[in-house]
Parts: sequence; C-alpha cells; structure tokens
Amino acid sequence: QLNERESMFLVSKFAKDYFHDILLNSDQGKAIGLSYFKERGFREETISKFELGYAIDEWDAFTKQALKKGYDLKYLEKTGLTIVKENKQFDRFKGRVLFPIHSMSGRILGFGGRILTNDKKAAKYLNSPESDIYHKSKILYGIYHAKKEIAKQDNCFLVEGYTDVISFHQSNIENVVASSGTALTSDQIRLVNRLTKNITVLFDGDAAGIRASIRGIDLILEQGMNVKVVTFPEGEDPDSFAKSHSDSELKEYLANNAQDFINFKVSLLMESAQNDPVKKAGLIRDIVSSISKIPDSIQREVYVQECARIMEISERVLFSELAQLVSKTS
Ligand code: ATP
Ligand code: MN
Ligand code: MN
Ligand code: MN
Repeated sequence: QLNERESMFLVSKFAKDYFHDILLNSDQGKAIGLSYFKERGFREETISKFELGYAIDEWDAFTKQALKKGYDLKYLEKTGLTIVKENKQFDRFKGRVLFPIHSMSGRILGFGGRILTNDKKAAKYLNSPESDIYHKSKILYGIYHAKKEIAKQDNCFLVEGYTDVISFHQSNIENVVASSGTALTSDQIRLVNRLTKNITVLFDGDAAGIRASIRGIDLILEQGMNVKVVTFPEGEDPDSFAKSHSDSELKEYLANNAQDFINFKVSLLMESAQNDPVKKAGLIRDIVSSISKIPDSIQREVYVQECARIMEISERVLFSELAQLVSKTS
C-alpha cells in the first residue's frame, strides 16, 4: 500500500514536470497556454514558482509519453491522469492550463485544469479525482508556498480560487491559501491551525458565495481560531482586485475592510430580517449558535455583549439562549 502511494506520487511529479515543459517549450503550449497566463498578467517567475502547466489538446499525448518513459498504466489510472475505457487510454486533461496541487511538504497530489474558452457548456475547472493521494477536503491550494509566511505574519488569508492565490503572491502577499471551490472542512482548517490562530476569509463579490461560505466559518470558530472577513466590490474577486490595484492599495484595502466575523454575520442577517420579528428571532438563534462554537468562555461573553448592542436586544436573552446551546454540546 505504501509503495502504491509512492508510485502515485512519482507519476504525479512526472506529470507536473511534463505539463510545465509543454507550457514553456512546445508550440501549442506557448501559443495557447503561456499566452493565456500572460494575458492574465502572470509573470514568468510566478509561472515557474507554481509550476503551472498546459495539457495539449489531443486524446493521449500525455499518457503516450508517460508509458514511453516507463510509468505503469496502473498508477496513471489510479491518479486519474489517464482514463481507461474499453481498453483504450485517454488523457483526463486536454486543452487546459493546469495548476498542480502541492501537499504541505511540496509533493504533487493532483491538478486543477482550466478551460481557455468561455464555453458555458464545459466546466470551467476540471480537477483530479479523489484518490489514495488526493483528498480535496484535506488540502488547501497554496499551503506549501504559504506556510512560512503564514507563521511569520501570524495570519492566513483564505480565498476561493487558484488564481486568487497566485495574484496575491504577485502582489507580494504570500500568506494565502484557497479552498478551491469546495465547502470549507475541519481538516483544511486544521492545516492552518498548526501555523496561526488567525484566519481572514476573503469573499468573491457575489452574494450567493457569501451566504454559502458562512456555514463553513463556524468550523473555524470551533477550533478556537479568530476569524475576520473581507468582502470585495460586486463582480470582483481577490485576483481581479489585486490586478487593478497597486501592492500598497491592496494591503490598505485588506487592513481597512477586515471585519470581525460575528459582527459581519450580525449585520448581514439583520439586513435580511429587517423588521420581521419571526425572522429576527431565527437570526438571533443563528448568531448565538455561532457564538456557542467558540471554546473560550470569556470570548463568548464579549461577543454576546457586542451582539446585544448591534441587534438592540437585551444581553439576558442572548445569554439564556447561549446557556442552552453550550449545555447541549458540552
Ligand atoms: P477564474 O478567475 O479563472 O475565472 P476563479 O478562481 O475566479 O477562476 P470561481 O468561479 O470564482 O473561479 O471559482 C473559485 C474556485 O472554485 C476555482 O478556482 C476552482 O477551484 C473552483 N471551481 C470553480 N468552478 C468549478 C467547476 N466547474 N468545477 C470544479 N471546481 C470549480
Ligand atoms: Mn466565485
Ligand atoms: Mn473567483
Ligand atoms: Mn477569478
């Protein structure tokens, strides 16, 4: 079993080197993949740092080369790089730019591949399938390149996408990781928890995304970590914002717009409840449930006082609601 995983790591590393070489040195790679990255403003040093790649738009260009180099079809299939159907072999990634996904120690676990057209029928991103080495719920994109700076800054920025991570590096912010479109999990948070107790969640500027992400954030509180959130203007994400602002403007925006998560959640929910008392009662329970996730009792008390003030209700109501929830969970 151990040897099988080792073989999967080896074939993944080969694939990463192969796709990177195709991007930089083949005609199709340069004309399509490299120019795509350059149009998005990615510099060559960044492309090398993240070992970005390109998969030729053919049925089996990669698989043929891997087999020729002596890699076993079994591991090509197990990593999902090759799909075997009716005894024929196909490359999973075709005509896409590729983002290799590194483990905390820098090994290649899988890939994310982006289409280059705006074809609405094809999925924008295609990822490696779950395998013995790639568990998408247990890894954060960029953690390998961010870990030193997360510890040094004692803070971690959490973004949604691959390109957000890469753009931040280009803007000289390196303590950044991405959940890559999956709902945040406790395992992912634990990776960061080893390095810092502070997470700043950066949301794309679309309301749907914010609502969906809020649930995941309770998981951060549960681990006793401090959470702040930053939202971006409608239609912007961290990547597009970083591209249209200078390094210092970006840093300033992040510093000036970081809100405490509980306060953020209260304001967001208050907006939707307006003067509807039934909704308001529901949201009070929702907020108190978030607060009950915080392990530290003094911190819980501070939040209760804060929320009572913002929501204009008595602390007593919040405390009694909280007491019920805390006694249930502990
Ligand atoms: P880009 O700037 O290239 O359009 P993005 O990162 O801004 O990419 P979003 O639509 O904001 O893309 O999605 C955030 C992340 O969610 C992506 O980086 C990717 O990891 C993941 N994702 C998005 N769409 C898909 C999809 N169709 N299948 C799987 N993962 C996806
Ligand atoms: Mn989005
Ligand atoms: Mn985005
Ligand atoms: Mn984007």
